[in-house]
Amino acid sequence: MTTSPSTAPSSRPAEDGTRYDAVIVGAGFGGLYMLHALRRLGFSARVFEAGDDVGGTWYWNRYPGARCDIESLQYSYSFDPDLDQEWSWSERYAPQPEILAYANHVADRFDLRRDIRFATRVTTARFDEDAALWEIETDRGDRVSGWFCIMAVGCLSNANIPDFPGRDEFEGPVLHTGQWPHEEVDFTDMRVAVIGTGSSAIQSIPIIARQASRLTVFQRTPNYSVPAWNRPMDREQEREVKADYPGLRARMRGRPTGFFFPFNIDPALGSTPEERERQYEEFWGRGGLPFLGAYGDLLFDADANETAAEFARNKIRSIVREPATAELLCPDNVFGCKRLCVDTGYYETYNLPHVHLVNVSDTPIERFARDGVVVDGTTWPADIIICATGFAAMTGSFERIGITGRSGLTLAEKWRAGPRTCLGLSSHGFPNLFMITGPGSPSVLASMIQAIEQHVDWMADCMAHLRDIGARTIEPGAAAEDAGVDHVNEVAGVSLRSTCSSWYVGANIPGRPRVFMPYIGGFPIYVNRCNEVMDAGYEGFIITGGAPAAAPPEVRLTERWHVPVDIDVISPAMVAARQVPVV
Ligand code: FAD
Ligand code: NAP
Repeated sequence: MTTSPSTAPSSRPAEDGTRYDAVIVGAGFGGLYMLHALRRLGFSARVFEAGDDVGGTWYWNRYPGARCDIESLQYSYSFDPDLDQEWSWSERYAPQPEILAYANHVADRFDLRRDIRFATRVTTARFDEDAALWEIETDRGDRVSGWFCIMAVGCLSNANIPDFPGRDEFEGPVLHTGQWPHEEVDFTDMRVAVIGTGSSAIQSIPIIARQASRLTVFQRTPNYSVPAWNRPMDREQEREVKADYPGLRARMRGRPTGFFFPFNIDPALGSTPEERERQYEEFWGRGGLPFLGAYGDLLFDADANETAAEFARNKIRSIVREPATAELLCPDNVFGCKRLCVDTGYYETYNLPHVHLVNVSDTPIERFARDGVVVDGTTWPADIIICATGFAAMTGSFERIGITGRSGLTLAEKWRAGPRTCLGLSSHGFPNLFMITGPGSPSVLASMIQAIEQHVDWMADCMAHLRDIGARTIEPGAAAEDAGVDHVNEVAGVSLRSTCSSWYVGANIPGRPRVFMPYIGGFPIYVNRCNEVMDAGYEGFIITGGAPAAAPPEVRLTERWHVPVDIDVISPAMVAARQVPVV
């Protein structure tokens, strides 16, 4: 039996024939803000959301321990100063229920729900060239059209549930962390199997272990994890931030990652081993992703990286008492190559007598049996199996929609060898189709709400410009797109992140082409490029219909991204992006 969240739709008549300025797919942080931004500019929009409510990631991922790993004060919208002031987070890293409550608060405060159709999955989107309209169909029988179709489908929204043989034979529930039931799952006295050791597993394992009578973790590749040192919100820090929230947002935008933390630009090998040890200890003490700020070249120089990797391995060895288990938990790949994990008590959990680690890297999971998981002929008993097996990232939710652009070209066909976009915003051959945090943009390498807002503002302003000049369509030209894709690939090669088999390169899903999908040149460089393109009248894009623009496009919502930012950390990837001086 497989349990997933209830999506039983309340009954409503199918919508037929309505024409909107935009049809938005998804009501996570991307779709919600897109709707709000379009309304501000006087556009009509319909949002379709597969889930029963708003929140996207935070609606679906309700597993125990789910929380953000960007500090709460930074993981929030910045488009409304009053919203900044009125919301208060309870912890340094907000738990999933609180982030979901925030998404609900935003939806209510800005009266967004009335334009959203929940429990409705968009199945096809087809561009009608004669009418210059997107025809959208859903699994509830809706057929509507939009001048624009905006994909806010999320980068980590299509759960990867490997097709383990014997799935139907297993008598207990099989859950995926990204499709978690709405009812509380009680593990008391249960034998639990967790498959996977990525961020979702690493967050949930310590909590499940508190209840389970036996916990077996199936590990294919160990991951590096840094303690979160989560704590109740420091109210003094919150007051300081709220006294100058725009100041914090500006500092965030000056960072390659789009979020702010202390960063030391010096190279790791420029320090003595003793100095490095002290530095790593200090940054480990700060916890979480900011550990990567210990030295400036950790993701660019393999020897430098190895010093951080060995420090982290020694931490694991110092925590996990059983040496063989400790060694099994020690990754031998590049530190931070796969998405760095952030935990609370993860490694300590393996000191508990009822917690077992099973290595499935050499001998994969053979099958599910009636009462457990079989590896190499041995059945590991389980009453419930949790697949913490991640997502078909970046492009997975696009693949579930039949998207057809000009001349019958499908997006699936065009992206067969890897996604091709211009700035991750749109793709040649698909006029008036926008994708929020699409492949080729910083997206998952940046603090994502920040990345979402910048995309939404650019798209909404673009639509307003087309309306100003009476244009019909916009799409990237083939040459601009080709140059952009080459650039994304070239910059990816500078970073060690492109070297391992992570979901960034699609390697977690068998058969996917190996392409580094997000843009790693740095958030501020990327934002500047988007601004330049806009200021030059959408340079590299083809606009059809309408009068030629008499003046540069009006900067409306993007005004806040047009302010110069102090780029205070320069990474080799940013240098490779050729837009910052080498210091
Ligand atoms: P999503 O939140 O994924 O929303 C997309 C929505 O589109 C979903 O609700 C989905 O149901 C809907 N949808 C998709 N296809 C269709 C369709 N065909 N029809 C109708 N609806 C559809 N990012 C950070 O920056 N910091 C973090 O700490 C962080 N933590 C994370 C923790 C987890 C467990 C996960 C999975 C991701 C995390 N992320 C984090 C990334 C997170 O996805 C983004 O921060 C952000 O929530 C994405 O918002 P979104 O609206 O772009 O996409
Ligand atoms: P993930 O990082 O892709 O991890 C999936 C895990 O499942 C990996 O350990 C993978 O092993 C394993 N796996 C997949 N298929 C398997 C199979 N057939 N047999 C055995 N093991 C298998 O997914 P995730 O943990 O859900 O995280 C995805 C992303 O979401 C994160 O990287 C992060 O960006 C975001 N996230 C953030 C947080 C947070 O802290 N805020 C929490 C959760 C998620 P391999 O490594 O060998 O493929």
